[in-house]
Amino acid sequence: MSQFINHSLLQILHSGNLVITANERQGRFLRREYAKAVTDGIFPHQATLNVTSYNGWLQSVWALFMSMIEDDSQQPSLINSRQSQLVWEFLAGKVNEFDSVVLKTASSALAGQANSLINEWELDSEDARFSQTVDTSLFSEWRKLYLGHVDYNRWIDISSLPDLVRELFHKSIIPAPNEIHFYHFAEFTPQQQSLFDEMSRKGSQLVRVDREPICKTICRTSLKTVEDEIKAAAQWARSVLELDPNAKVGIVAPALEDCADTVVRVFDQVFDPSSVMKPLANMARPYNISLGKALIDQPVICRALDIISMAQGYLTVEEWVLFLHSPFVRGADAEFLNRTVFAQKIRASGFHTITLSEIIEFLSSEEDEEFSCPILIEVLTAFTESRDAVYQDMRPSDWVTRFDSMLESVGWPGNRQLTSTEYQTVEAWKKSLPDFEALGMVKGHVSFLEAVTYINRVARETIFQPQSPDTPVDIMGTLEAEGLSFDYLWLMGMNDTSWPLPSKPNPLIPIVMQREKNIARSSPEREFTFSKLITDSLVNQSLNVVVSYPETDGDVSCRISSLFVEHDHIDSEELTGAIVPFYSESLVGTAHLEVIDDHIAPPVESGVIIEGGVSIIKHQSACPFRAFAEHRLGARPIEPVDDLLSPAERGELLHRVLELFWKQTTSQASMLALSDIQLLKRVDECVVQSLDELDSKRPRLLRGAYRELEKERLTSLCSAWLEADAKRAPFTQVITEKRSTVTIGGMELRVRIDRQDVLEDGSVAITDYKSGDPSVSGWFGDRPDEPQLPLYAAMYKGRTDIGAVLFGGLKSGSVGYKGIVKEAGILNEKSKAFEESRESKHAEQWDQIVPAWSDTVHRLANDYRQGVADVSPKHPVKSCEYCPMASLCRVAENRAA
Ligand code: SF4
Repeated sequence: MSQFINHSLLQILHSGNLVITANERQGRFLRREYAKAVTDGIFPHQATLNVTSYNGWLQSVWALFMSMIEDDSQQPSLINSRQSQLVWEFLAGKVNEFDSVVLKTASSALAGQANSLINEWELDSEDARFSQTVDTSLFSEWRKLYLGHVDYNRWIDISSLPDLVRELFHKSIIPAPNEIHFYHFAEFTPQQQSLFDEMSRKGSQLVRVDREPICKTICRTSLKTVEDEIKAAAQWARSVLELDPNAKVGIVAPALEDCADTVVRVFDQVFDPSSVMKPLANMARPYNISLGKALIDQPVICRALDIISMAQGYLTVEEWVLFLHSPFVRGADAEFLNRTVFAQKIRASGFHTITLSEIIEFLSSEEDEEFSCPILIEVLTAFTESRDAVYQDMRPSDWVTRFDSMLESVGWPGNRQLTSTEYQTVEAWKKSLPDFEALGMVKGHVSFLEAVTYINRVARETIFQPQSPDTPVDIMGTLEAEGLSFDYLWLMGMNDTSWPLPSKPNPLIPIVMQREKNIARSSPEREFTFSKLITDSLVNQSLNVVVSYPETDGDVSCRISSLFVEHDHIDSEELTGAIVPFYSESLVGTAHLEVIDDHIAPPVESGVIIEGGVSIIKHQSACPFRAFAEHRLGARPIEPVDDLLSPAERGELLHRVLELFWKQTTSQASMLALSDIQLLKRVDECVVQSLDELDSKRPRLLRGAYRELEKERLTSLCSAWLEADAKRAPFTQVITEKRSTVTIGGMELRVRIDRQDVLEDGSVAITDYKSGDPSVSGWFGDRPDEPQLPLYAAMYKGRTDIGAVLFGGLKSGSVGYKGIVKEAGILNEKSKAFEESRESKHAEQWDQIVPAWSDTVHRLANDYRQGVADVSPKHPVKSCEYCPMASLCRVAENRAA
């Protein structure tokens, strides 16, 4: 194991001198190096180290100062950046003419950042240049309000803490330390320099710790794509660890957050190829990636927030389903299956939102003991009792107590032992609650909704990274790696567009002032110099360094960053060997695969009732596997629960309106006998009845304007349709939604014919309503796209004279009949006899059509019964477009192969 820091620095650490690091990570690095030295016997015993980060040190001076003020009421309060952001937000509404585009869109975080820059870089906020643009002058006004508010409340903004500490040393309220060693500060800001100058004047001895370069080898390489580059880095890291298991490896990238998911996936597969077969969430990994996630994205916190939201009295069905599946609620394991079944039931209930009392009622009425959830009823009842105060405004600290008791009432975070990550997440959540309580500083009492909104925001903005044990590989960003050392360091993503970082000045401070002071991110020149400083430090402080870049990033060609052009280029294969395929790829490549012909399923046994009706024939025609999966395996997609009518429900409504109308009216003559007002009234009654019926099935859905809009749509479409019927040749005996059972190909299918009526010559017209734009050609061929009407016609074969087969188009803007008729004029004055129509190419004579259709549907039914189930979409794209079985049939994988 290498020792990266020299003896004089080890001696400084061992002697207990104060060492201040630029960040926490450097502190951990120094402690680890010291521990190695003790293990190696360099020191006879382990001393207590006095290593702290700069921010930690400032806070310790602050704490000392606070302890000197005996009267609590005289103590100022230190406000952190989130608390300060709340103050900025609160005051934004008080700035006159707050109408600038930048200021409107600028978050209070940007203003807080500008204020910190002013403090850190000692900018003159009275500088006349602040008045040169609307945005900077409004910010200047906003900042005066902020400073006044902070001062009035005796708060100290965290970015001005160094100034306060300087004052404490200056006035000798606190003695300056005798000796301080600064470890790896890339630069001192003017604010830090002023503080350290003051300490020098007070007699402190300040020493910057510089380390000698230790780099032995460095080279650069390139890979074709970003993913290839990540894979090469992972493979290289694995190969160096195989040669030297005690080595410390660093993988560093300037834009790690952009490729973090790919990095995790690739490193998992390279370091533990069989990881593809394991649940990854709690897998112990041999690497540590420095990228946190928002607390709200952690399941244990997300469910806690849902539970708190439940106190409003209701949740959406999707939220209830997540609650029922949650392992973080008491009784989750014991009632896992029952809760899952219950979740399915409420999904199918048609409700979009369900109240707490309704859920308890549904659960209590569950008669089937096998599916009852007594613990859940207890949990929800206890929760109901704990939520009684949500209508009062309270201080945020009181809301925290209230939320705690709500969570406790449901047994959050559950009975099972939390994983290490979950445990740390819950602890991080508890630590973030003071940020929520800070809302009280600016708002005092808040309502339940305000409290829920803000606690969600705190969870969204709190980034949390679980601590992992010391791992051989550390993956991190460039700035985090500054001051650390590795046996092997791979700097990836070092292309000319990523490194140096692009400049990004703060828009609320005059740019010219930022450039004068050379503030961070203010200009390309500044970024070049700063990035060079970081690069030199990274490269010099590790033993063996590889720098890489992708030749292309998406469609963009990349070149090596100008900071690395002088290093020797070597072929990536010399570093990594040939890129090894992933486990899944090697499985496919090396395994002996047995080929199983699975396109024929077991035949349907005689006597088995087949559910599914005409859609079986439609699916068998479109793709035999779809018919097999949906109707024999019972595969169903999980449909999202929507708070609007689904297209199917809207179609059903229209069918119902027309059914009700023709039930009363029965013939064209009866309809024509109605006056316009009577006709409209009858349509209106049918529309209202159909909406009422739906309302009883899906309460709370059709309300107010939404119901009115739906009513308008139904009335307009129905009226347009009846106009088309009025222009038809006479017809009688209208029957709608006729249900019957038909035996086809040895199977009994339940069918429902949308409409049939009797034409003047006594023949029957059968109609299928369509809300889309169907094509009549879809009735013909070996695999018809629209086999419903051919099936209905086949039912009548030899029994009834069919005079017309029709689609009833019910699409707004194109309402009317479309189809084929036996004789000219039998439908309306424009209808041509079949033999003269375009569709005559499918059959020479009318009388040949129905027998041909009968053959087709019998063949399809017979195929289904015999088990024909091959993955064979009729149209390779169109048939699959809306089919929900793609993940089951794996058509995409087949195509890729
Ligand atoms: S996705 Fe395509 S291939 Fe797969 S079952 Fe559906 S229609 Fe057939």
